[in-house]
Amino acid sequence: MTGAHGTHTATRCIACGADGVRIFFEMRNVPTHCNLLFSERAEALAVARGDLVLAFCPACGHVFNTAFDPSRMHYTQQYENSLHFSPRFQQFVEAQAAGLIARYDLHGKTIVDVGCGKGDFLKLICEMGGNHGVGFDPSYVFDGAEPPHVRFVQDFYSEKHTDVPADLVCCRQVLEHIEDPARFVAMVKRAAGARQANHDQGGVRIFFEVPNVLYTLRDLGIWDLIYEHVSYFSPASLRRLFEGQGMRVLDVAEVYGGQFLTLDAALDGAPGDAPAPLDSALPALVETFAASYAQKLAGWRAWLAGLRAAGGKAVAWGAGSKGVTFLNVLGAGDEVSAIVDINPRKQGMLVAGTGQRIVPPDALPELRPDAVLIMNPLYVSEIQSTVHGLGLKPDFHVV
Ligand SMILES: [Zn+2]
Repeated sequence: MTGAHGTHTATRCIACGADGVRIFFEMRNVPTHCNLLFSERAEALAVARGDLVLAFCPACGHVFNTAFDPSRMHYTQQYENSLHFSPRFQQFVEAQAAGLIARYDLHGKTIVDVGCGKGDFLKLICEMGGNHGVGFDPSYVFDGAEPPHVRFVQDFYSEKHTDVPADLVCCRQVLEHIEDPARFVAMVKRAAGARQANHDQGGVRIFFEVPNVLYTLRDLGIWDLIYEHVSYFSPASLRRLFEGQGMRVLDVAEVYGGQFLTLDAALDGAPGDAPAPLDSALPALVETFAASYAQKLAGWRAWLAGLRAAGGKAVAWGAGSKGVTFLNVLGAGDEVSAIVDINPRKQGMLVAGTGQRIVPPDALPELRPDAVLIMNPLYVSEIQSTVHGLGLKPDFHVV
């Protein structure tokens, strides 16, 4: 299925523009959209597939997919990736919002959310701080439940929208999807800066959140490698990208158990500032990753084969990108009989690529799994207490 779009090798880093990037990892035929939901099994199995050919840039520490083809990406209303149903995740986003409100005294201010999805975070930070919000997302669907102080624009954020002055421009889990991240950051700087002159608050603040490649490489969070993500940022490559576009980076932090990076910036960066130091552990992690990945995969293949041989059944828990990737990479069949997710919009639907049904937790007493495979270590206690509450005692394994 890769066909005409096969691998083309980029020689320049998409974050810093340097030559000499090194290919270090390949993964073929993964679903191009792992958060698409299907109701027909044949459709779920026939999902479009693409390749990951990951390159590492020694100049800035960036990792990116050189085989990414943006013309294959279509985000439709079938696309569902909201995590807001998990109490653990809700706690995290509330802490993020509270932190931003405290850092930048966001009360009665205007927040712009670039790529706001269903607007959950924007509504939250506006509610918590008494702020006004404008959310940009071409896939936003009006549901009549928009609060009066928050409005949504069904469009990409761009210089077209400089009539929207902002005290904070936030952009969460978007940058990693964008083919040319440097051009995108430059656009955000221009668009957010266009109303700077009208500000008496020391200028607009910029907040980005992206997945952390150190979690993938160092902690072997290998199920986070997905076609939708062009970029895999390290703390240094993220910082350098923004500094390279003339922003002043105030902070880069590893959050959410190290799975995400956040970046705070101001627009008044001075060009020619000394570049931030590289992540010193990264080159060695890149060097050994293909072997570490293969070893982890072999371990899970053997485990699933053992389960199959013993006539056992497992369920996976968490039908997000990690869960879909886990099932697809391992080619999991009937031995993983279902995948549990607490998001009611996903329940009853089928997983892209492998076709397991997504079920609510209360389907488990009937399925009687021998093992529950937990896709995200942060949810272990949340999941265990739900399963025990159903009177079940399966084995738990964090993948
Ligand atoms: Zn680079």
